Amino acid sequence: MKYVTFSYDDGVTQDKRLVEIFNKYGMKCTFNLNSGIMKEDSCWDNNGVHIRRMTAEEIGNLYDGHEIACHFLTHPFPFELDDKTLDYEIGKDIENLSDMFKCEIVGCAYPYGQYDDRVVAALQKHGIKYARTCGTTSNFAPQTDLLRFMSTCHHKDEKLFELAEKFIAEGSDEKQVFYVWGHSYEFDVDNNWDRIEKLCKMLSEHSDIIPVTNAQALL
Ligand SMILES: [Zn+2]
Repeated sequence: MKYVTFSYDDGVTQDKRLVEIFNKYGMKCTFNLNSGIMKEDSCWDNNGVHIRRMTAEEIGNLYDGHEIACHFLTHPFPFELDDKTLDYEIGKDIENLSDMFKCEIVGCAYPYGQYDDRVVAALQKHGIKYARTCGTTSNFAPQTDLLRFMSTCHHKDEKLFELAEKFIAEGSDEKQVFYVWGHSYEFDVDNNWDRIEKLCKMLSEHSDIIPVTNAQALL
């Protein structure tokens, strides 16, 4: 009843290294992708690090064994979209991703963390069952409002390892979820890939902690 799950956004090239680490330690992640901008020119620089989304060809079978979720077609600011465009950004991303990965898309991460009742209703219309916000709880308690879901913490959170120790020490009679999110390029920008490796290693050493995708943890 102790589940650990990860959520990483944008489908950038650094996901290759991240997947390698997750697979090495048997961890499961949900990758939130923008199917309309999987192109070479979907790139930017951050602190001297070049960040670029992968093309569909580059992705290939990289994410096998993990979950794919919606992150809107072109990573827009949801509040800036009229109803029709909002609907298209969600519906088309789900359609493309389910075609590309041959799976049902039931999850979402809000681009820029923007959501309100209108955005939530648009996701519901397309069958989305849970959606991650940028809010954090610093705990592992089950949540009832899955379309406004809050993670335990971002991987940059200064309490990350304190929370991991606390989770390891918890009893396992009640359902608990340790949910960590971020962007894989942040490990390059902050030069701290050891942080995610250390976390995965710690959690993998406890057989009562079950690594699952977001959908498996929440639904
Ligand atoms: Zn994003």
